[in-house]
Amino acid sequence: MNVQRYDYAAQFAGIGPAVRVALEAALLGGNYILGPEVATFEGAFADFCGVRHCVGVNSGTDALILALRACGIGPGDRVAVQANTFFATVAAISLVGATPVLVDACPQTYLIDLERLAASGPVDAILPVHLYGLATDMDRLNAIARSHEAIVIEDCAQAHGARHGARPVGGFGRVGCFSFHPSKNLAAAGDAGGCVTDDPAIDERLRLLRHLGQSEQNTHNVVASNSRLDVLQSIVLRAKLPALEAWNRRRAAIAEIYRRELSDLPIGFQSPGSTGAHVYHLFQLETSERDALVDSLTARGVDATVRYPTPIHLQPAFADLGHAPGDFPVAERLARTLLCLPIRPDMSDVEVDCVIDAVRRHFHEGRSHVARD
Ligand SMILES: *Cc1c(COP(=O)(O)O)cnc(C)c1O
Repeated sequence: MNVQRYDYAAQFAGIGPAVRVALEAALLGGNYILGPEVATFEGAFADFCGVRHCVGVNSGTDALILALRACGIGPGDRVAVQANTFFATVAAISLVGATPVLVDACPQTYLIDLERLAASGPVDAILPVHLYGLATDMDRLNAIARSHEAIVIEDCAQAHGARHGARPVGGFGRVGCFSFHPSKNLAAAGDAGGCVTDDPAIDERLRLLRHLGQSEQNTHNVVASNSRLDVLQSIVLRAKLPALEAWNRRRAAIAEIYRRELSDLPIGFQSPGSTGAHVYHLFQLETSERDALVDSLTARGVDATVRYPTPIHLQPAFADLGHAPGDFPVAERLARTLLCLPIRPDMSDVEVDCVIDAVRRHFHEGRSHVARD
């Protein structure tokens, strides 16, 4: 049996015909740019996040860039961010001309180490990443931000619906940034992203920034690029959104089974947080035999993968930050030891058992067995 990481067709179960009808109407209607479907999705997603405004943009990367710009972050500003995130988080900081201030990860949560963040020098903004789907402790983070007088922008690209306390991520800082890349918990059929905020001035600024700086046609108030959410993607996202809570719960249920059934093996896990805190965009396990385990899972048909094998400070693109191996030991260790098991909301119990069996066999039969395979 093969266990895949993604099954895009499964996400259309029950909504396929309605999506087809809406897509056809949009295609024939011709109102392709910022048509009414975009505003409909934005309203629904703002409600989902418990905030007042959502501005749809064309990717999660652009959501971060526009959020930073809307908050006035640019050249000369310092932005704290964890060293073990996805490349786009830190690229966005550099692309607006600001300076990333890297902070090591916490070995339990794999999120920004709040002790180290509190002890770091002054920064103008903090960009917490709810990495792999686990919400950052936003009470503590916001308290640290207040002491630095720093703006908080959340990278929620992996954490749609993850909660800190009773509240979903996205509304704890000035802006929350989401990606709807096909791999994410809420997936478009291509690139898409969004910013959420409670601040009407930021909302207005984001709308200018995604639309060539236009306040009205032919009046451009700021120099800005084109980053509008596509109408067709809005239709797909709006249709999938009602299922997202149930999908996240299924992801969390699978994660609980993995933890329980693998608990006796020499492996570690990201801390689960309290109920609802983790939406398991990725299920990560930590092992000193990471590469061998990926190989043996692959050989047994389980689509395991590594996210992310190189921490930010060792990426060639960030050589000018002047870091060296050893600077962020936790991020470096996680890059060497983490692997992702497949986790999909539509995964069957049989598939979950198959993954568990494959991991257990690796540790019980040892690498010699895999070599004989
Ligand atoms: C996916 C992702 C992004 C970028 O989103 P895109 O839509 O691919 O541009 C940013 N940050 C994190 C943490 C991500 O996982």
